[in-house]
Amino acid sequence: MSRPKSIKNRIIKKLISVNFTKGRGDKIPHMIVLHTTDGFGKNNFNWFNSPQSQSSSHFGVMLDGTIEQYVEIDDTAWHAGNWAINQASIGIEFDDNKNPNDSIRTNELYSSGIELICFLIEELEKKYPNSFKASATNDFLSHFIRVHREFVPTKTCPAGLDIDRIKKGVLEFLKKRESNNNNIDSIETRFFEIEKKINYFSSFLPTIEQILSDQNNKLAEFKNSLFSLQDFVYEKCIKTSDFESLKLVVESLKNESEFLKKEFYLLKDSLDLLNKINFFFFKLKEVFKRFLNKILNKKV
Ligand SMILES: [Zn+2]
Repeated sequence: MSRPKSIKNRIIKKLISVNFTKGRGDKIPHMIVLHTTDGFGKNNFNWFNSPQSQSSSHFGVMLDGTIEQYVEIDDTAWHAGNWAINQASIGIEFDDNKNPNDSIRTNELYSSGIELICFLIEELEKKYPNSFKASATNDFLSHFIRVHREFVPTKTCPAGLDIDRIKKGVLEFLKKRESNNNNIDSIETRFFEIEKKINYFSSFLPTIEQILSDQNNKLAEFKNSLFSLQDFVYEKCIKTSDFESLKLVVESLKNESEFLKKEFYLLKDSLDLLNKINFFFFKLKEVFKRFLNKILNKKV
């Protein structure tokens, strides 16, 4: 079961003006109470909004999957027949077309009901991060999903509604969510490991860069001194007459300087490469950071 993002937009608000209490006293909602309409779901609003009914519920789920809301989550609806439970719970009425004991309930009713409960779990977690946290366990579900007859033993409500089917759907959602979060956690851990490695390698870059640049400077100095030696030899060649041996010296010096020139350019290329690597690391780190933020935002 996956919860479509549009669930919030699918809830049709039909807020009533009577039969509920503003606020929840000192309680926070931490359970859902399931009901069956024992009537026509389409009459929910009019019934809850008429003073003589003296009853209400937060939500109604229709046989076609439509979801209606009559009371805000922050307020107390009159549905459980028990004031303390009303203050601590969210009431949901499931349509039964006035056949509470029959199996006329549809797939749409069940899937919308399950989606609504999953949505409410995440709303409560957001609203009360310090006191409400769902877990994918039967223990959590048995505390969280309750039925009307638990609190008023003379009632059969929610009668033929398949509670196990609803619990199973919510449990599947919670399990999937938990495994997604675990996956994200492990990606996050690996991500930090890679980032550490990148930081480690990039910490060497300035040192390597410095060494290369020192070598480069030394090479340039050496090259300059060779050139001046060359000039000196040319002068000697003019002042003396030993042309042949001087010519040889000059040739060898010329070769030497060509070789040094090549080395010089090689080093220069290495420096350029190093700068490119440096830049690449920098970009990679930026991408990682953006990716990480995305992941963290997805985590519930
Ligand atoms: Zn009921």
